[in-house]
Amino acid sequence: MDDRSLTTTDCDVVVVGAGPAGTCAAIVLARAGLDVVLLERGPFPGSKNMYGGVVYPRILDELIPSWWEEAPVQRWVTRRSTMVLTPDQALTVDFRSQRWGAPPYNGATAYRPDFDHWLAAHAEAAGAQLVCSTTVTGLLRDAGGRVVGVRTDRPDGDLRTRLVIACDGVNSFLAKEAGLYPPVDAANYTLGVKETLALPKDVIDERFGVRGREGVDIEILGGTGGVNGGGFVYTNLDTVAVGAVLKLPKLAAQRRRPEEIIAGLKSHPAIAPLVEGAEVKEYSAHLIPEAGLSMMPRLAGDGMLVAGDAAAMCLAAGIWLEGVNFAMASGMYAGRAAVEALRAGDLSTAGLAGYERRLSSTFVLRDHRKLRRAPSLVLSDRVQHVYPELITSVVERMFRVDNPAPKPGLRRIVRDETKRLGVRTRDLVRDGIDGLRSFG
Ligand SMILES: Cc1cc2nc3c(=O)[nH]c(=O)nc-3n(C[C@H](O)[C@H](O)[C@H](O)COP(=O)(O)OP(=O)(O)OC[C@H]3O[C@@H](n4cnc5c(N)ncnc54)[C@H](O)[C@@H]3O)c2cc1C
Repeated sequence: MDDRSLTTTDCDVVVVGAGPAGTCAAIVLARAGLDVVLLERGPFPGSKNMYGGVVYPRILDELIPSWWEEAPVQRWVTRRSTMVLTPDQALTVDFRSQRWGAPPYNGATAYRPDFDHWLAAHAEAAGAQLVCSTTVTGLLRDAGGRVVGVRTDRPDGDLRTRLVIACDGVNSFLAKEAGLYPPVDAANYTLGVKETLALPKDVIDERFGVRGREGVDIEILGGTGGVNGGGFVYTNLDTVAVGAVLKLPKLAAQRRRPEEIIAGLKSHPAIAPLVEGAEVKEYSAHLIPEAGLSMMPRLAGDGMLVAGDAAAMCLAAGIWLEGVNFAMASGMYAGRAAVEALRAGDLSTAGLAGYERRLSSTFVLRDHRKLRRAPSLVLSDRVQHVYPELITSVVERMFRVDNPAPKPGLRRIVRDETKRLGVRTRDLVRDGIDGLRSFG
């Protein structure tokens, strides 16, 4: 290490934001014996951020072996459904696996205040200094423009450091201030809104067909009342989360309130029986960096790395809404690259390049590259407003018994329905190819 610069710094690394990205970075750095300060604006980790409710914690195997024995989990997801809704129809693909209800598990529902708090306790146990109720208000730079610390809203103010890792969530103003982001486009963001609804555990078990700690994850296409987006329903022990993810420009153009859209979703004939009689315990909303790879900033600058939602790493691709695992992984790899760069004494953009190299060889950037067309495809007008009706009307005609007429056959039904809905074959083929490239 460079001793001269150490004498002018307060710590080796400042990590901004104690969400899953920041906390995993802090765990790695503290375990490597570095002096880490983890700054969080909320009174405790998990107090300011929100999400739908399902964590896929496989990446934690590397940081906290047997995490499932101690993580504050509500239910283990053993049922995963995808629903296509039109105003009066629903087609559900329902998958159930008992294997997911046993170690090493697949997904879990968890409350973020519990989960983020628990994860941050691991960072503290490793020696990181967690400082809450402290908002970072800007970056400190040296004469050459290199990031050398952060300004905070505390009376004792600025903190000088050798490296800043920005994990301050979606719309990261630190990454923007560092000049790492291209110009912001509102079309790259969705607004996520959620109601947490209280119901007795036995009622949830009965309605969702689960027992004990088994849980359900339902992802929904359609049902957002003309605003492009999607919906979700997740089960906790004695609450159900119902939410929607809404494309910002469409929401603004339609002048609809998000809570009206959730009310519409809750009253859909396929959802209403699941949540009937439930009491709203909480309403929350947050932006999602929806556009994936196409909106990602540069991931490193001189003296700075960016991870998690701050780097637009949330994967929002229709049948998947995964942000916490991408945040934990990118934070962990940022931590590892930082340890390497600090030991080599090179915190320039080039010295920090190990971060992007690590992301490129793992699911974080590989999934984003493979699914780079998915966000715009899934949120396109055809997928949102035409294909749900096409799919459900084809299925309705397959199952409808029109005696004395004979059964029409699938090819004829598809031909009739595409014609009725004005779907052009070339659009269908192009979207099919895009879909296959992304999801195939
Ligand atoms: C409605 C909705 C549903 C979602 N559903 C899911 C889901 O089911 N599963 C899933 O995996 N992902 C889901 N996501 C995405 C997931 O929430 C994010 O991808 C994930 O939280 C990103 O983690 P992070 O650590 O990067 O950022 P965050 O969790 O946002 O944490 C950032 C932290 O930084 C702090 N902070 C911000 N600015 C400052 C500052 N200036 N100074 C100090 N601290 C600061 C914040 O208080 C916060 O604690 C959902 C998101 C939304 C909005």
